[in-house]
Order: sequence, then structure tokens, then C-alpha cells
Amino acid sequence: PKFRIEKIDDCRWRIPQTGKMQVDGIVYTSERMLPHLQQDDTLKQVANVAHLPGIIQHSLAMPDAHSGYGFPIGGVAAFDMDEGVISPGGVGYDINCGVRLMRSNLSYHEIEGHIRDLVAALFQNIPCGVGSKRKDLKLSANTERQVLTKGAEWAVAQGFGSERDILHIEEHGCIAGANPEVISKRAYERGRPQLGTLGSGNHFVEIDYVEEVFDSQIAATLGLEKDHIAITVHTGSRGFGYQVCDDFLQEMLKASQKYGIELPDRQLCCAPIHSEEGQRYFAAMACAANYAFTNRQIITHWVRETFERVLERTPQELQMDLVYDVAHNIAKFETHLIDGKERKVCVHRKGATRAFPPGHIEVPEAYRAIGQPVLIPGDMGRCSYVLVGTEDAMSDTFGSTCHGAGRMLSRTAAKKQAKGRAIWREMEDQGVIVRSDGRATLAEEMPEAYKDVSEVVDVVHHSGISRKIVKLRPIGVIKG
Ligand code: 5GP
Ligand code: MN
Ligand code: MN
Repeated sequence: PKFRIEKIDDCRWRIPQTGKMQVDGIVYTSERMLPHLQQDDTLKQVANVAHLPGIIQHSLAMPDAHSGYGFPIGGVAAFDMDEGVISPGGVGYDINCGVRLMRSNLSYHEIEGHIRDLVAALFQNIPCGVGSKRKDLKLSANTERQVLTKGAEWAVAQGFGSERDILHIEEHGCIAGANPEVISKRAYERGRPQLGTLGSGNHFVEIDYVEEVFDSQIAATLGLEKDHIAITVHTGSRGFGYQVCDDFLQEMLKASQKYGIELPDRQLCCAPIHSEEGQRYFAAMACAANYAFTNRQIITHWVRETFERVLERTPQELQMDLVYDVAHNIAKFETHLIDGKERKVCVHRKGATRAFPPGHIEVPEAYRAIGQPVLIPGDMGRCSYVLVGTEDAMSDTFGSTCHGAGRMLSRTAAKKQAKGRAIWREMEDQGVIVRSDGRATLAEEMPEAYKDVSEVVDVVHHSGISRKIVKLRPIGVIKG
């Protein structure tokens, strides 16, 4: 790389401020994983983000980082409300892509013989694949607007899940400030048939069991117990969010020129937070975020319905409660302590998860004493983790941590490596039953395509920006 990178400690490296960078870049990784970040444009992108007006303290990258559109995936950046900017590239195309986790009182042992049936039934009951549509959930244009302003609460009012679910979703499943007036006709059209669908390959519903418990007291508070079954859902705002992002990239390119913002990369196009364009993007992004919360809420209901049908026991009997739902592609207005003073800032998390500490007002009451649950999917073969947020995250990373293992092989490279192999059989040999829509999906999504999530999680754990609570092992997965 052309710029210098300095080791700070075993978990952090610095990209010193040079030229027109406003601040340093700070990269969380390990000695072992550093070469992954040097393989692509990640470090350059961290440095590019540091050029943007009003950026505060550092341009950050988490250990799962890899290069993305403008900002790296795994990137975190906070901006001053007056001098700073908001950028669609800092949120990503899949606005409010995120993860939710349900617990249950089922043990692995109890359902061992039913996994294949459960996976088949999930696959049938939840529409998967790139352009997938749900047939019996027709939205009128007016109803779609309600989804955009009300979020998960809309789904609950329609009978998808319960009020208890709402308490365990980031922002209660609804970001304030959504304005349906700023949404294009095309986005409305793309969104209408896709609500309640999983989407393409990286999105999934997975049956896991708790393989290892690192802190049994906190795990118990989360309702997680060794050998018990939990279900992970990963999806976002589908074609709706994609279209919103696309629409606003055009608008933001013009805005960057209009406000004289110098861009090291056009993909970082942005607008001042308080400008008309900035406000419009936030209002549209909030609509897409609410669409995604609703989408995950509807899919959750279908997961419960599927378990009920296959196991002939109600979700109440199975105690399939929502543990938590987190966004990992979003920009938010939050209060942080900056140089000893409380300040409202605009935090961009792109492929990064909020990780608020114990005691924070935004953490659900049931978890106030332990910190916000952080859900980190790994890959369909190895494992995933549940962590909690910490004070160190609050002071060092604007209350943020990693979001996954992070892609290591491009989709093309993965397909090449998977040639001639039956990935589904390799997975079955490892004890994981998989079903997917696309033929190429399993190759693109094979475990080797991702970093080892255990190494990634060790970095965020040891650096103190989140704490490991349990490890989940997959046994059945449906992929988009
Ligand atoms: P992204 O939103 O960036 O596409 O994905 C988030 C993370 O999910 C990835 O970095 C990867 O670690 C993880 N992931 C992708 N597919 C699967 C899967 O099938 N199962 C699990 N447990 N994790 C996955
Ligand atoms: Mn995602
Ligand atoms: Mn996504």
C-alpha cells in the first residue's frame, strides 16, 4: 500500500493522517488477518473516508472488513451534525441489512430427527432467491407507505408476532424521520412484491444450537442455554433499499458538487447532514430501514409457524422468543462523549453492528444490566457468536463492533474453488443440512469464502469493544 500503517497493539493498526485526510484511520484486526485487508482496497477506502468533511476522531474498520462501494464493508465513521456529511455509500445498498436471533426451549437432542423436515418446510414457507416474491402477501401502495413509517409495529398489528418482539428490536423496529414522500415510484414498485422474502445467497434462515457458553449468567439473561436450539435470520430491505440507494447516489453526486465537497472517490458522494439533500436521504434511508425491520418480523412469524407445523407444538410452548434484532447497514443520529463532551453525531455503520454498553438507555430493559446483544453470523459450516456491547465500544468505536466473518473470496473466486465439488454434501458430512435457491449460491457461500469468524470475534473481544457470550453451531440452513 502507498500509505503507512502502524501497529498500535495486538488488535489495532493506525493509518496516519496524511495529505487531505482529516483524521487517522484505525483498523481492528490481528497480525494473522492483516494480510486479508491488504489484499483489496480496504485500507485505501478507510483512508478515503477520513477525507470527508466533519469526520470525528477516526475512520474505523472492523476485523471483518473488506472493500465495498466507497466505504469499506466493516467501516464505521461518525460525523459532526453541523460540519459533517451523510453518505449512501456509508450505509450500503442493502439498507438495514441485519440479523435477528430467536431462542427456544428445544434441545438439539429433541429435534435431531426433525432437522431435514424443518429445513424443507422453512424452504417452502419462506420465499428465497434474488427476485423472490411472496404470493399471498399483497400490499397496496397505501399499505406499503404504512410499512415505511411504522416498521415492525405494522407487522405485529397484522398478526405477525407480538408486542414483546418489538421491545427486543433495535429502535423498536422503527427509525424516526421516515418520509414516504421522498421515495421514487420505482422503489415503491420493487418493494411491494418483495416484503416477506429472504433475498439472495448471503441472506439466510439458520437453525443453530448453543455449542459453547462463555458467560452463563449473561447467557441465561438472554435465554440461551447450552445445547438449546436458536434460530438466526439474516436479511434486509430487498429491492426497495437497493433502489433507494441507487436513486440517492445520483442525487448525492450532484449535491457533492453543489456544496463543493472534494471527493477522493466518487463512490463517497454525500451531502451535508442539514442540507435538503442530506435530509431527504436520511428520510428515505429510514423508510428502507423500516421496510427491513418489517421484513425480518414477517419472516420470524413464518419461522414460528413452520416449527409449529413440523413439531406440532405452538411457538408459545416452544418459547420461541426474540432475543434481539440488530441492523448492520445504517446511519443514525446518536449522542456520544467526544473529548469529554456529549455531542450528537451521525454514525455510519456499514457492515458493522451497534454494541451499546450496560446501562445505556437504548438497551432493552431486560438486558440493561448486561449490555446490548450483538449478533455475529459466521458462515453456514463453522459457527456464529452472540456478544454484548461494552463501555470500550462506546469510547473507542462509537458503540460499534464487527458484523460477521467478512467475505474473503470474491463470488467468482469461490465458484472457481468449488468447481466439481458438491458443497451441499460437504455440508451434510459436517452435520449441516442446507437448501438454497440459486445453483451458484452454495459455492459462493461455502465456508472457505469467509474469514474464520472465531478469529474475527477474538479481535473484538480482546480489544474490549464487545464480549463473547455464546457460540452457535449451525445444523440446518436455508439460503437465498
Ligand atoms: P453480509 O451482510 O455482509 O453479506 O453478511 C454478514 C455476514 O454473515 C458475513 O460476513 C458472513 O460472515 C455471515 N454469513 C453469510 N452466510 C452465512 C450463513 O449461511 N450462515 C451464517 N451463520 N453466517 C453467514
Ligand atoms: Mn447483512
Ligand atoms: Mn444484505
